[in-house]
Amino acid sequence: MTWSLPISLFLLLSAPFVGSFLDLVAERWPKGESFVQGRSRCEHCGRVLAWSDLIPIVSWTIARGECRYCNARISIWHPVVELSALGIAAWSLVVFWEPLSWISTLFGWTLLALALIDLRSFWLPIALTWVLGLAGLTAGWVLTPLGVLDRLMGTAAGYAVLAAAAWIYRRCRGREGLGSGDFWLFGAIGAWVGWQGLGTVLLYAGLSGLLLALIRSRGGRSIRLETRLPFGPCLCAGAWLVWLYGPLYTASAN
Ligand SMILES: [Zn+2]
Repeated sequence: MTWSLPISLFLLLSAPFVGSFLDLVAERWPKGESFVQGRSRCEHCGRVLAWSDLIPIVSWTIARGECRYCNARISIWHPVVELSALGIAAWSLVVFWEPLSWISTLFGWTLLALALIDLRSFWLPIALTWVLGLAGLTAGWVLTPLGVLDRLMGTAAGYAVLAAAAWIYRRCRGREGLGSGDFWLFGAIGAWVGWQGLGTVLLYAGLSGLLLALIRSRGGRSIRLETRLPFGPCLCAGAWLVWLYGPLYTASAN
C-alpha cells in the first residue's frame, strides 16, 4: 500500500491546526513567552478557552467571530491565518507530486510563520531563517534539478544583495531601511530557489510591498515615504511564487 494518500490527507487535516499554532507562535515568540506552555485565553476577558473554542475555523464561524463569554469581537485574523495554512498545503499538493508536495508544504508553513512574526512585530528571528536556509541547501541533494552550488550561490547572493542595498540606503537617507533579519531571510530563500530565482523574488516582493501599502492606506493609515512596512512578508510571498512556478526567465543556458 502506498503512503502518499494518507500523508497528503494528514497534511490537509492538520493544516488549520498548524496555522493556529503558527499564529500563537507569532504572538508569543517576540514577547519571549513560551508557546508550548500556558493555556489560550480570550484577549478581552481573560477567560481560559475550552478545547471547543479552539477548533480552527469552525469555532470562530460558529461563534460568529465573538467570544462566547464576553461577546467581544475576535479578530478575523485567526481564521484567515488558519485558512492560509490550509491553502499552502492544498496549493503544494496541486502543483507538485509527493514527496516534493510535502516538503513544499513545510517550506510554505515556515514562510508563513516568518511573515506573521514580521507583520506583528517588525522582527525576523534569525534562528528560524537559518533553519530555513539549511533545509533549502539539504533539499538540493534530493529535489529539483537545481544543484547545491546554485543554492549556495543563491544564499550568498541573497544575503549580499540586501546587505548592500541597506548600506546604500543608510548612506543616502541616514536611517535604516532593512534589518539584518531581511538579509538572512533572502539568503535562506536563495537556498531554495537558487541564485537564478532571486531577481524574480525581488520583483514579486516589490509588488507585494505596494499591495501591502495600499491595504494599509485603505485601513485609514496614511502612507508616506517614511512609513515603516515590514519587508519580510513581501519576500516570503515572492519566494513562495518562485518556488511554485520558477523565475520569470531562466538565465542558465540549459
Ligand atoms: Zn472574552
